[in-house]
Amino acid sequence: MASLRDSECGLLDCNDRVWSQQKRRELIIMTHKITLIPGDGIGPEVTDATVRILEATGLKFEWESFAVGADAFEKHGEYIPKEVIESIERTHVALKGPVTTPVGGGFSSINVALRQKFELYANFRPIRNLPHIPTRYPDVDLIIVRENTEGLYSGLEHEVVPGVVESLKIITEKASTRIAKFAFEYARKNQRKKIHAIHKANIMKLSDGLFLRCCRNIAKGFPEITYGEHIVDNTCMQLVMNPYQYDMLVMENLYGDILSDLCAAFVGGLGFVPSANLGDHCALFEAVHGSAPDIAGKNLANPTALLRSSLLMLRHLGEFEAATQIRNALEKVYRHREQLTKDVGGQAGTSQFADAVIEEMSAAKSAPAVAK
Ligand code: NAD
Repeated sequence: MASLRDSECGLLDCNDRVWSQQKRRELIIMTHKITLIPGDGIGPEVTDATVRILEATGLKFEWESFAVGADAFEKHGEYIPKEVIESIERTHVALKGPVTTPVGGGFSSINVALRQKFELYANFRPIRNLPHIPTRYPDVDLIIVRENTEGLYSGLEHEVVPGVVESLKIITEKASTRIAKFAFEYARKNQRKKIHAIHKANIMKLSDGLFLRCCRNIAKGFPEITYGEHIVDNTCMQLVMNPYQYDMLVMENLYGDILSDLCAAFVGGLGFVPSANLGDHCALFEAVHGSAPDIAGKNLANPTALLRSSLLMLRHLGEFEAATQIRNALEKVYRHREQLTKDVGGQAGTSQFADAVIEEMSAAKSAPAVAK
C-alpha cells in the first residue's frame, strides 16, 4: 500500500535562498508564530481540528488569527483587513481554511488576492493515497505544480459593448520561467523522473505557446528529467485512463485548478488533498478544497486535507519529527477505520476524527520505546 512520504521536505530546499540555516534554527527552537485564517463554511471546523492536532505535538505555536472575506467586511469594512497583511509580513507563514467567493458577481477572490499580494507563485499539490482508503486507483503518487499568480486569474475583465465581455489571460515569460524552474528544481531534489507541461497551445498559440517555450528552455538544464507536453483535454482523459503514466505536471493557473479536483478523486476526494502556496518570502498552507457550503456547520467535514497541508507547513518550518508523529497517528486512524468521517464511509464528525488522531499520538508517546 502507498504511504505518506517525506519527500515534501524538498519544499524547504526550494526556498533555501531565503530561509537561511540560521533563520531555520531560530524557528526550530522558538515558538512558531503563524498567521491563522480559519476562513468560512467548513473552514473554522477543519481549522479547529488541525490546530488541536498541531498543538498536541507539544510544539509551541502563537496563532495570529483573523477573519477575511464577507465576515471581515461585516466587522471591519475590508475583505482583507490590513492586520492580516501585516501579520503575514511578520510571520512569513500562514495556515488558512477555505474562503467563499461569490459566483458571477460580488467581491473578488480573497484566495487569489492573497496569492498575488505575497507573490506565492508556486502552488504545490501532492496527490497521494493514504493507506487503507480504498479507491479506484491505489498507490497514486502525482504532483501538480500550478502557476499561482496570473493566467485567467488576473482579474482583468471588462464589458467591450453590451452583450460582449472580455477576460484577459495574462501569461508572462517571467512567471512561466519561474514556475517551470520551481517544478524542475523540486524534481531534481526529490528524485522525480518526469515532468509534463499541460497546455492548450494548439488554440492559445501565443499565451500557452509562451508558457511551453519557457518550460522547454528550463527543461534543457535538467537532462536527467524526462520532459513531455500534453494538451489539457487529452490530459483529462489520460489521467482517468491511467494516472500512473504521470509523475509531475506543471501548468498555468486555471488548468491547475481543474486538474487538481480531478486528481483528488483518485485518492478519496477533496477531503484528502493538501497544498502549499510558496513564494520567495512567505508560504501559505491550505487544503485544495473550498468552503463546502453543503456540509458547513454540521461537523461533517473531513479535516485530513488541511491537516496534510499543515504537515507541509511543519516540514517547511523544519519540524520533521512532529510531522512524522502526526502522519503516523493519521495513518493509524485510517487503518482502524473506527473514527472516519462520512465522505469515506464513516460516522465520526470532524471533531471526533481530530480526537482520534490526538489519542493515537498520545498512545504512541506513552508506548514503550521498543514497541514504537
Ligand atoms: P468545494 O471544494 O467547497 O466542495 C466540492 C464538494 O466537495 C462538495 O460536495 C463538498 O461537500 C465536498 N468537500 C469539500 N471539502 C470537503 C471536506 N473537507 N470533507 C468532505 N467533503 C468535502 O467546492 P465548491 O462547492 O465548488 O466551492 C465552494 C466555495 O469555496 C466557493 O465559494 C469557492 O469559490 C470556494 N473555494 C475556495 C477555495 C479556497 O479557499 N482556497 C478553494 C476552492 C473553492
